[in-house]
Amino acid sequence: MSAAAVPRSPLLDAIQEVLISEDGVADRVRELGERITLDYQGRDLLVVGVLRGVALFMGDLIRQIHLPLEIDYMAISSYGSATKSSGVVRILKDLDETITGRNVLIVEDIIDTGLTLSYLTRALEERKPASLAICTLLDKPSRRVAHVDVQYTGFTVEDRFVVGYGLDHAQRFRNLPFIGVLKPEVYTR
Ligand code: 5GP
Repeated sequence: MSAAAVPRSPLLDAIQEVLISEDGVADRVRELGERITLDYQGRDLLVVGVLRGVALFMGDLIRQIHLPLEIDYMAISSYGSATKSSGVVRILKDLDETITGRNVLIVEDIIDTGLTLSYLTRALEERKPASLAICTLLDKPSRRVAHVDVQYTGFTVEDRFVVGYGLDHAQRFRNLPFIGVLKPEVYTR
C-alpha cells in the first residue's frame, strides 16, 4: 500500500504516514457490505459492535448491508493509553439484546493478539446464537496469540500501531478519516 502525502493541520501534523486512504477504506467497506448482504439473505441478523474503536466502521458498514438488521454494542476493557495488550479482558457494557437463536455478526476495529475476540466469542457462544461470525476492519495476524475464526477482514496490516477511522492513541485521533501511523514522538509523549 503506497503512502499518500498529508496536508498540514494541528491534527495531521502528528501523522507520519497514511496507510489506508479515506477512499480506500470506503471502497473496502462497500465490498464487505456486499458480501455480508449476500451471505445473510433471508436470515435474521444482529450486528454487534465492539466499542469504542468500531464506531465509525460500524456506522459505514451497516449502511452497506442492504438487509433488515438490528444493532447492539458491547464495551470491553482495552489497552487504555498504552500500545501493548494487557491480556486482561473485561465486559464493561453487555448486550441489551438476547442473542439465543439469532445470527450474530461481531464487528471489531482491529484484531491484534486475538485475546479480546477469543474471550468475547467464547462468552457469546455460551448464549447459543444460531450463528456467530466476525467482521474486522483490520487484522494484524503476525501478533496473534489466541486463535480467532474471522469471516470478513477489511485489510491485513503489518505489526504497527495504527490510528484513525475510530482507532485511537490515548483516546485521540479517532476522528481521522483515514488509517495512519503517528510520528514516533507522539507515542512517547
Ligand atoms: P487484541 O485483544 O486482539 O490484542 O486487541 C484488540 C484491541 O486492541 C482493539 O480493539 C484495539 O482497541 C486495540 N488495538 C490493537 N492494535 C491496535 C492498533 O494498532 N491501534 C489501535 N489504536 N488500537 C489497537
